[in-house]
Amino acid sequence: MNKATVSYFLQIFSEARCIQCGRCLEVCPVFLVTNAEELSPRAKAVLLQNMDFLARVQSSGSRLTNNVRALAGLCVGCGRCARVCPQQVNIPALLSKIKSLSPGWKDWFWERLIKYGFCVATQDWLEPVLSMFLSAGRKKYLTALRRPETARPWLKIKGRAPEAERVVVFPGCLGRFAWPHLQEKAEKLLKNLGYELLPTPDWACCGFTFKSAGLLEEEKRCQQINFSLWERLGRPKIVTFCATCEQGLLNSSFAEFQQHIVFFDNLLATAAWEIDTDIFQSDFRILWHKPCHAREHEFKLWQKKFEKAGVKLDLNKDYCCGLGGSLQIEARDLSRQVSDFFWLNLDINSKTHILSSCNGCVLQLRATRPEHVQVSHWLEIVKQEA
Ligand code: SF4
Ligand code: SF4
Repeated sequence: MNKATVSYFLQIFSEARCIQCGRCLEVCPVFLVTNAEELSPRAKAVLLQNMDFLARVQSSGSRLTNNVRALAGLCVGCGRCARVCPQQVNIPALLSKIKSLSPGWKDWFWERLIKYGFCVATQDWLEPVLSMFLSAGRKKYLTALRRPETARPWLKIKGRAPEAERVVVFPGCLGRFAWPHLQEKAEKLLKNLGYELLPTPDWACCGFTFKSAGLLEEEKRCQQINFSLWERLGRPKIVTFCATCEQGLLNSSFAEFQQHIVFFDNLLATAAWEIDTDIFQSDFRILWHKPCHAREHEFKLWQKKFEKAGVKLDLNKDYCCGLGGSLQIEARDLSRQVSDFFWLNLDINSKTHILSSCNGCVLQLRATRPEHVQVSHWLEIVKQEA
């Protein structure tokens, strides 16, 4: 191992300053469904602190790669542990750094992504080909990607922006390639609210997925591309409708870029909500699914707006939906366990409609939901004004 790598490892180990308080155990979805201490964030922190085995196996590529895969595959990357840790131990960030150093990790990860059809599923001609090779569970993801459900829109958002600011939409990869109707709706809504809308450029990925996958060079490349595009547009406000993309963009190493990121609901704060109450027959329930990466106050804003329009909006039990991190790729059974736990503990009936603000959560919930439950991104229930 060369000196630079050794010092990089030492830096990672020194960031895992775990005092074993156990606070992260209460929030970790993997620990919640398995009750296995060895899969908990605390165990990962302790392991990282004592990872001299990494140094030993660095000379043996395959062993290191296997160890890294094993560790990385047991985290959903939700970041809940980091938010409660009194020592600021950030397990997903540390795992990401470790993965980035693993020989062969990058090739292995891309191979898996392609195998499961995540990155090519938007190509029309590939759907029938992929369908022949995917398991029934994976096909559901492909269907959710390729054929989004169409809910009847029942929310009208009206108002004028306090000032006609220049804005540009960041739709995220799903919003751009798989579900362009979300991008169209977002742009129309902003125009109707009086914002000066700039044309959406060829954004690169927000970088979040690359970061959690340990592909840090790719993340950096995306940040650079997005920064250049934003500069060329004259530095407008960047509006995103995906909670996870917002986090990805906020990780940008360009401070000025970061300062111009606005989440969509902040622009809607002064607008009025009008809801078609005729859709609310008896037993109709609307649940808000809070994405792991959403800001704390997001649900409160939505709840307040719905209440003003005379409709109760409930929060689900704040469980992780099971998408994210490498769990889907490496430990699919564990991912399924997290997802099953989510649905088992949700108070749903045959007329439940789940709304969310993360493109990835919407995909995951649609691919795993019981048939009678409807799942939408909130933009899909917004009525389109002419
Ligand atoms: S919350 Fe932080 S300090 Fe406490 S056990 Fe978890 S990782 Fe360790
Ligand atoms: S990021 Fe989420 S899944 Fe991973 S260890 Fe932390 S709480 Fe558990």
